[in-house]
Parts: sequence; structure tokens; C-alpha cells
Amino acid sequence: MDSLKPETLLAQAPGHPAAPYGEIVPPIHVATTYERGTDLGYPGGRVYGRDGNPSFTAAEGLLTQLEGGAASMLFASGMAAATAVFQALDPGDRVVVPRVMYWALRHWLVTEGERRGLKVTLFDNLAADPVAALAEATGTRPVKLVWLETPANPTWDVIDIAAAAKVAHAAGALLAVDSTVATPILCRPLALGADLVMHAATKYLNGHSDVLAGTLTTARDDDFWARLKVQRALGGGIMGPFEAWLLLRGMRTLSLRVGRASTTAMAIARHFQSDPRVAVLYPGLPSFPGHEVAARQMVGGFSGMMSLRVNGGRDRALRMHGRLKLFRRATSLGGVESLVEHRASIEGPTSPCPDDLLRMSIGLEDAGDLIADLEQALA
Ligand SMILES: *Cc1c(COP(=O)(O)O)cnc(C)c1O
Repeated sequence: MDSLKPETLLAQAPGHPAAPYGEIVPPIHVATTYERGTDLGYPGGRVYGRDGNPSFTAAEGLLTQLEGGAASMLFASGMAAATAVFQALDPGDRVVVPRVMYWALRHWLVTEGERRGLKVTLFDNLAADPVAALAEATGTRPVKLVWLETPANPTWDVIDIAAAAKVAHAAGALLAVDSTVATPILCRPLALGADLVMHAATKYLNGHSDVLAGTLTTARDDDFWARLKVQRALGGGIMGPFEAWLLLRGMRTLSLRVGRASTTAMAIARHFQSDPRVAVLYPGLPSFPGHEVAARQMVGGFSGMMSLRVNGGRDRALRMHGRLKLFRRATSLGGVESLVEHRASIEGPTSPCPDDLLRMSIGLEDAGDLIADLEQALA
């Protein structure tokens, strides 16, 4: 069974039909508490709903198989999963994180994280050699955890996970990767040396813009994973059973959706790559700085996320943003519908995002229709 391809695992999820009815899709378990035996034991092995829910098992198991890990946990959102990792560290621990990454997490780290005693060092992941920048930032001081996001929001800069893992491990740190954009279809960070993988499952894994969810997958069922389980069970950032059910339903078409979005994003990137009105940021283009690394560590595509920097600055970018007809003006990504966003205005004054940048999440529409929409908005 271990040799089955991701497409087969996804299509067949959750595996064998459930007893007693042999249903092809899993039931939703809504109980928050479970009855004890007279011996005070729990015959079903479950105690209380904050520890987990049988409705999570299929999605967690599927993700563990896709990532090639030891175990996975669902959380109430991507942020709940990501912040659980940092909250499992001790006050005074040093973490090294990218300068350009998912904005809300960086903001949480340098405000709430530091308030709780974390020492947060940012490294320049947009440097010509981001691994060298990481090595310089880890330096000789002790580091507990290195966090990567690749491709990174919203410039899609890529970092070599295998090389970064060597740097992190040499510094005695764990390596965690936010792999939301790549998904387990395009990249498997654990196989490249990472210790933990996080997904905002709100995005591609669910894929329909109707569930908030986060996941963590660990390479080893070790002490740190035990601390993360405590973070979820006692911190309470757990998702609901219906949301877990919707997540699994979305995941079953993950490979089709990611493949299609990647192909369309590539077509759009190629269409605009030599257009003087815009600069295309997309790891699939050979001219993109991280292309070679992306081509090595991503398999089958470069994701559906891309950005355009509009020649003429913020005003031209906002005019184009306002004229789009098919692209929906909304935050988030990874849904079936294409979205566009002026990132600098949502990230606010502390954002490192250029103000001429429009971020696009490419959905499942026809590539020609999307290109025509972008063309009419640029004209
Ligand atoms: C959306 C997102 C998150 C946060 O996930 P939520 O489910 O919104 O909390 C984290 N990282 C990346 C890359 C994201 O796109």
C-alpha cells in the first residue's frame, strides 16, 4: 500500500468503508464526550473532544502518507497550527524566520512571540543566496527552530530546503516548513530533511474557500511532537468535525486542482514574461532567481500562486486591480476561483511587499479567459 501514488491515495480516501453500513464516505462524529466503563476505563479509547475527534483520523492519516511523515494533526486554522509550534518552545529560545513570509505569522512572531520571550531573528530570504543568509543569521548562537516558507508569500522566492536543513541541524535547530503554497503534491519537505511541515489547509488542501484549517506533520513521533499534542489539546485550537469532513472532501481532488492551477499559472507567466508593462514573479519561469532550486525540489509544477509587479507603481497597480472582471478582489488563495490582491494595502505600513505588486491565486477557470481579463485590465 505504501507504494501507491498520491493520486490513488487521495481518490480512495478515507480508505476502507466504515462499519456497520459500509459507507463510501466517512460519517461525521459530533460527540464532545465519551462514556467511561465501570472500571473507569474508556472502552472506545477516547475521552473528550478537545483531545481529537474520530472525524480527524482520515484527513490526518492521508496527510501523513502524502508527506511521508510519522503523524499529523489538524488545527482550527493555519495560524493555530503555526503558532502552536512556537508556543511549544520555551521563553528565551531563539528562532530564525524569513524576512518575507506569510505576513500574519511574521507579525505574530515579532509582537506576541517576542512578548512571550521568544528571540526572533529574521533572515533575508530574498538575498541572492538565501541559504548563506540563513547560515549568517543562525551564526554561532544557539537556535531552537528555523522556519521556512517556500515559495514565500507574496514574492514566491524559493529556498533550498535540503541545504537549509543542513544549516538548521548544524546549529542544533529543528527545521519547520510552511508548505501551504507547494502542497504535498509538488513538494515533500520531510524527504528533503525538514522535521515539521505546516499547511494552511484553508488554502489548497481544502480548496473551496469554505473551511479554515491548519495542519502539522512530523518526521518523528518524538518529545517535541508530544509537546505539540499538548498545545492542541490544552491550548484548544482544535477544528470542528464538520470542517474536518469538508477538508477531507476537498483533499480528494487536490492533485487535479493543483495540477490545473499550476499549468494555468505557467501559461499566464509565459504570456506576460516579456511584456514591458509588468514584471512576472513566478518560480516556473527560467528567468526567476530561484527557478533552478524550485525545479529541483518541486515535482510536477510550480503552484498556482504568482504575482505581477505593474510598471508605473501603486496607482497603475490599483487601476489594474480595479478593472479585473473575472479575478475576484479578495485575500486568501488556493480555491477554485481566481483571486487578486494588492498585498501592500492589506499588510499595512510594516509590510516589506512592494506597492506595485498584485498577488494572484490562479483558480480552475480557462487560461485564455484569465489572460484576456488581465490583458483588458492592463490596456
Ligand atoms: C493563509 C496562510 C496561513 C494562515 O492560515 P489561516 O488558515 O488563514 O490561519 C499561513 N501560511 C500561509 C502561506 C498562508 O497562505
